[in-house]
Amino acid sequence: MRRKSVATYTLGCKVNQYETALIEEELTERGLRIVPFSQDADYYLINTCTVTLRTDQKCREYIRSALKRNRKAKVVVTGCYAQRSPQELKKISPQCQVFDNSQKRHIAGCLAKEVFAIRETEESHGKLRFISRFPQHTRAFVKIQDGCKSFCSYCIIPYVRKEVSSRPLSEVLSEVNILVDSGYKEIVLCGINLGNYQKLVPLLEKLNSLTGLERIRISSIEPLHINQGLIAAMKSFSKMCHHLHIPLQSGDDHVLKIMNRKYTTGDYQKIIEMVRKSIPDVGISTDLIVGFPGETERRFYNTYDFVNKMGFSKMHIFRFSPRPGTVASRLPGRVSPSEMRRRSRTLDNLEKELREKFYRQYLNKELVVLFERKVQGKRENGRVFHSGFSSNYIRVLAPASEDELNRLVSVRIDDVNYRFAIGEILH
Ligand code: SF4
Repeated sequence: MRRKSVATYTLGCKVNQYETALIEEELTERGLRIVPFSQDADYYLINTCTVTLRTDQKCREYIRSALKRNRKAKVVVTGCYAQRSPQELKKISPQCQVFDNSQKRHIAGCLAKEVFAIRETEESHGKLRFISRFPQHTRAFVKIQDGCKSFCSYCIIPYVRKEVSSRPLSEVLSEVNILVDSGYKEIVLCGINLGNYQKLVPLLEKLNSLTGLERIRISSIEPLHINQGLIAAMKSFSKMCHHLHIPLQSGDDHVLKIMNRKYTTGDYQKIIEMVRKSIPDVGISTDLIVGFPGETERRFYNTYDFVNKMGFSKMHIFRFSPRPGTVASRLPGRVSPSEMRRRSRTLDNLEKELREKFYRQYLNKELVVLFERKVQGKRENGRVFHSGFSSNYIRVLAPASEDELNRLVSVRIDDVNYRFAIGEILH
């Protein structure tokens, strides 16, 4: 008998991606087959995000495209959009079955029950499980924390992931051990508000001594969670990547205040200086929101000047999107969409300049790269290029062979542009 198939699609953050990987693993264990989203499947699973209006739109598009691909398929919808507005999603089609974030752990059990007409006990539904692989990725994301109660005025997360929790350290270690046994060399620790993880430095210390693991990266962390202990850990633990993603959101103190961000640009600058003093080669990336209500032209240029001074290695620029129920959705002083686009373009151009400047420091120097994939279409004298990231998160391209994939390799950088650094492997 042909095994029933499930195709998944994930929108949003690393935590969502981890949670999809976990569901996929549970489905496979229960005898279902995971197929690419572009294929015909018996079930589609869309793990949604609701961070902006545009993301909501995309989620609905993916649900509709799944329904179009196989008119008989069932579409399971979960994630933050499903949590925020299940009715909106159920209305798309009677074939949509909606699970909120707290019900995610039951999805695999429910599908298996339906497919095999078996009785699953309550315990087997919510049973503790680990991922042993992270499909289509060389680096595995590991969720260590969930939830946020910070209530930044623009953010929907505290409404859709309000239960704040930290995974026990021993559980994280067991999962990383399994991933290392499966061949993963780098793990990326992630959370909704990662800095709230109660034992971050002790966890890093344990991971640093784990045989077979070569790199530990931490994903986004809020500025006020960066302290001397964390910096010392990043400096002294040899496996720690020298990269921090520290969301700034605005470089104007008034805007930061109405965003309820709880720090000033002065505080932020001190934190960056403290990190750079200890770890000179650190790459610091950030998130910014343009067009927040009340962001005048002058305040926007305060942000422009501040990010220029901070010299970020990468910036993710978002246009303000009012989320229903948040404080910011009711604030006066909205910026027009065309002005938001202009501000976003202006910062985009600065972003490219800053990124190239950061990369340029490594010309004729050596970077250690974990190669992840072949670069489509890039060949020179018959040599195939592969790409990967350095510890401080520079994308590096070099002619390499399949053997060099998922290995840490030294590369001498010969050229850079704002998209990548390019060089030769040093053997
Ligand atoms: S810290 Fe602020 S921006 Fe981050 S998830 Fe929490 S509320 Fe949202």
